[in-house]
Amino acid sequence: MRSPRRCSRNGCPRQAVATLTYVYNESTAVVGPLAAFAEPHTYDLCEPHARSLTAPRGWDVVRHEGEFEPPPPTTDDLVALAEAVREAARPVTPRPPEGDENLNPAPQTGRRGHLRVIPPSH
Ligand SMILES: [Zn+2]
Repeated sequence: MRSPRRCSRNGCPRQAVATLTYVYNESTAVVGPLAAFAEPHTYDLCEPHARSLTAPRGWDVVRHEGEFEPPPPTTDDLVALAEAVREAARPVTPRPPEGDENLNPAPQTGRRGHLRVIPPSH
């Protein structure tokens, strides 16, 4: 199961539903439906960011009118590669899977790995 594409704005965790494309020779920022391919000068945006986008001074904004649809699942290799790179760049806090022993909080005696479990004294 692949995670959906994310908004490219810093710190924004929302799913991307639109793609912003800068057309430099026309000084136009185009906010359209999510592009299937990541291209130079394109940025994926979530709906709030797509709606609230303002162009730099001297630029026009052409905005897709209507609903932004979440993208359908894709098996595109390019997207997979881009996500893999993004995933690698994201700081992660590894969290070990919880074993059965966490379901049983009763004191246990014995060695688990290099730790010795000492039961409380009565
Ligand atoms: Zn966003």
